Amino acid sequence: LLNNDKCDEARNLIVAVRIRPMNARELSVVGAKNVITVDENKVSINSSCIGSSTTKLNYMFPYDHVFWSCDKSKFNYSSQDEVFSKIGNPLLENAFQGYNACLFAYGQTGSGKSYSMMGIDSENLDCNDIGIIPRFCKKLFNKIELLDDPNAAIVDVSYFEIYNEKIHDLLLSNSHRTPLKVREHPVWGPYVVNLSTYKVKSYEELKSWLLLGNKNRAVAATLMNEKSSRSHSIFSIELSLEENHIENVTKRSKISLVDLAGSERLGNTNNNSNEEKLKQGVFINKSLLTLGKVICALADQKKGVQFVPYRESVLTWLLRESLGGNSFTSMLATITPANVHIDETLATLRYACQAR
Ligand code: ADP
Repeated sequence: LLNNDKCDEARNLIVAVRIRPMNARELSVVGAKNVITVDENKVSINSSCIGSSTTKLNYMFPYDHVFWSCDKSKFNYSSQDEVFSKIGNPLLENAFQGYNACLFAYGQTGSGKSYSMMGIDSENLDCNDIGIIPRFCKKLFNKIELLDDPNAAIVDVSYFEIYNEKIHDLLLSNSHRTPLKVREHPVWGPYVVNLSTYKVKSYEELKSWLLLGNKNRAVAATLMNEKSSRSHSIFSIELSLEENHIENVTKRSKISLVDLAGSERLGNTNNNSNEEKLKQGVFINKSLLTLGKVICALADQKKGVQFVPYRESVLTWLLRESLGGNSFTSMLATITPANVHIDETLATLRYACQAR
């Protein structure tokens, strides 16, 4: 069903890498250079740039897709639209067949996660540079309009973040945000108790919730320094399609679109003696590590491995129903081509390659 070099059988995981342009800060460093080269679906790091290593290793990693987004004037530039069509659209098509889906953006802070997920400006979703989430939602409603009976489709949305393993509703004003709990529903699995959920009938309606959540996220980030890079944000869509109302047949799909916390390692934060920061770092690493373990375990299930450690982090516990079994996952790893960040870039490329 989906393209895969490793085996011919159908696969429900797509792993992609996107390389953003170097920014002014990176270019201003003396000796700034681009250490990344791309050849179709492979990414290479110029190994002579790595540390004092005497062995010349060939750092070359294969993925399902590689998006080179460094120079708009070049023929091989990957636009927001191309990224959506390769890693978002397959999930949307499958959602209409009743499959759950998850899409993650993984990478160090500043590598392009929010740009890819939301767009150039999370408070303006009417420009050309919008990201995967608004594109996904627009197309969702375009497809609903094309159904024989558009009223047979029901769309519910919610938007929350996980910060230090605690869940905060992003569709409530900050003053009302007490941490929410996760419980297990006997049929539908894990859910967030008292999370606000809204029915939306059009993209415009959905967009207003998205903008509110983005604004609340930005406010929370300003109140607490760096919070947005240290929390995972999850925009969740539930699609119900009543196929046959006489026989009461309904297809349901849950789609989680996730902008993960920055993957930079603890050692890189400026002030790691600070206890709060240390705690945040441990939690971030734990959930990103668990996510990696879960995705690898799911890939290995085909080889007979049974245990999947969903419960080891709030993120993976909540996404359980959208990660395993009959569901489709896309992971987008975002990197910068600048030599100054080569260690984090290598760590991101390794993480994404392992997931595959
Ligand atoms: P993150 O969410 O990973 O912290 P951002 O998405 O906020 O990073 O990106 C950091 C900066 O780089 C932003 O100013 C963003 O607009 C810019 N940027 C990121 N990716 C791209 C890209 N593919 N093309 C152009 N600018 C980008």
